[in-house]
Amino acid sequence: MKSTIFKDTINSFVSIAKGLWVTLVNWSWRRPCVTELYPEQKPVLPVGYRGMPTLPVNPATGRSGCIGCGACARMCPEEIIHVVVDKTDPKDRKPAEFTVDISRCMFCGLCMEVCPTHALKPARTFELACRTREGMVYNLQDLMRLGGELPVEPEEETVS
Ligand code: SF4
Ligand code: SF4
Repeated sequence: MKSTIFKDTINSFVSIAKGLWVTLVNWSWRRPCVTELYPEQKPVLPVGYRGMPTLPVNPATGRSGCIGCGACARMCPEEIIHVVVDKTDPKDRKPAEFTVDISRCMFCGLCMEVCPTHALKPARTFELACRTREGMVYNLQDLMRLGGELPVEPEEETVS
C-alpha cells in the first residue's frame, strides 16, 4: 500500500515536470505563434482559395461575362442557382435575373467549372454571416459587386 502511494507521488511529480518542460521549451525557443487573433487579424487566404461563386465585371463593358445559358444552375447539386435569360436582343445574351442561395452552397466549384464563358469566379471572402436566410440570397448586383473587376488582359502583340 505504502509503495503504491510512493509510486503515485513520484509519477505526479514526473508528469508536472514533463508539462513544465513542454511549456518552457515553447516559451524559451520562441516558436512562431500559430493562433490568429481573428477578427483583428485577418487570415491570409491560400492562392487556390475557393469561396462562393461571384460574377466579376469586365471594366471595358461594365458587365459580367454571363450569357444566361443556365449551365451552372443545371450543374449545381444543391439547385440553389436561379438564372433567367434576357431575351430582348437575341444577339446580346445576358442574364435578366441571377440569384444564388449561399446558405446552402457547399463551395464545390462545379458551377464555375461548367461555365462556358468562365464568368463565375470564386470570391476571396469568407465573412458571409448574416441574421436572416433571405440575406444569404445574392442577386446579380450582389454577385457582380463581390466579384469585383476582372484584371485587364494585356493586348496581344502584332508581328509585322
Ligand atoms: S459552388 Fe457548388 S453548391 Fe455552390 S452554387 Fe456552385 S455548384 Fe452550387
Ligand atoms: S454564369 Fe456561366 S454557366 Fe451560369 S448562366 Fe452565366 S454563362 Fe451560363
